[in-house]
Amino acid sequence: MTDNLVQLLPDAIANQIAAGEVIQRPASVVKELVENAVDAGADEINLIIKDAGKTLIQVIDNGCGMSETDARMSLERHATSKLRTAEDLFTLHTMGFRGEALASIVAIAQVEMKTRRAPDELGTRLVVEASEVITQEPAAAPPGTSIAVRNLFYNVPARRNFLKSDSVELRHIREEYIRIALAHPSVRFELHVNDKLDLSLTAGNLRQRIIAVFGKKYRDLLVPIEESTDVLSIGGYVGKPEAARKSKVGQFFFINDRYIRSSYLHHAVTMAYDELLSKDSYPFYVIFLEIDPARIDVNVHPTKQEIKFEDERLIYNYLKATIRHGLGRASIMPTIDFES
Ligand code: ADP
Ligand code: MG
Repeated sequence: MTDNLVQLLPDAIANQIAAGEVIQRPASVVKELVENAVDAGADEINLIIKDAGKTLIQVIDNGCGMSETDARMSLERHATSKLRTAEDLFTLHTMGFRGEALASIVAIAQVEMKTRRAPDELGTRLVVEASEVITQEPAAAPPGTSIAVRNLFYNVPARRNFLKSDSVELRHIREEYIRIALAHPSVRFELHVNDKLDLSLTAGNLRQRIIAVFGKKYRDLLVPIEESTDVLSIGGYVGKPEAARKSKVGQFFFINDRYIRSSYLHHAVTMAYDELLSKDSYPFYVIFLEIDPARIDVNVHPTKQEIKFEDERLIYNYLKATIRHGLGRASIMPTIDFES
């Protein structure tokens, strides 16, 4: 008889492997950290990027902050304050819930966290490298949380070498940042790239946020849409036909404030425009769908951009009708076929 061979992996290795799923590139870190800041109730979130996130990604928020114990605990795998029971999965309103992001990030980078809850006199400073806590100490800090992620993938050379050029990585970062900024117009966002202010978004409503992100010309190009039933509500803006582009920029779906991709729902939108658009152009839209969380499964993919939902067909038809109605009200199309 030979000795048994099966052993549990050490945490640092398990976390590094898990990180491969959650963190593909600097933009994934941006998404996770900015979503955490939103979940923490921040109304000001600053993002600081150096070298397209390869040397520094820092997110500073004025949210709820963490106690010293929670700050240390937040770095553990499956550690979350957002989910307690299996039932909670069906009523979730936070962006995160898996408790994997921080554990993944600290496994593959050099991380410095400073955090303080408003009522506490002192905050906590933590320095972590490759899942190992180097420093944990009380420290003066403004209320909220700052997390600086340096030298992403420094200990995973294969991953680091796989990163694309700075311009490509920065484009991915901007995309993630803009998606979250569109979903949270009441939060003030600032993006600094290589020590320069790149994008500053003041708090406002969705219309103002869209114009701040995409430019003043959208002032005259946005058509509001709004309909609701007891299981589904739809809101947001679609572009007038003149806002359509030949390239695929400017299509955003959010389900319960979470950005998703859906070629199925995209099809519903293009069908709503029907002959208003030429075949090779894409309509502009920023559409929010609110659905009872019990009717959708956000658990499908670790980065959670695809979700499954019940009643797909119904949502398709309702979305199409809502857009037709909106375009009709804006006198862009007759409303007579709304009921069809
Ligand atoms: P998840 O977001 O899925 O819970 P994370 O690994 O992203 O998992 O974060 C773990 C926990 O750390 C969160 O549940 C939250 O309690 C805490 N946390 C993370 N970031 C922040 C932040 N910016 N402000 C306050 N708490 C935070
Ligand atoms: Mg999170």
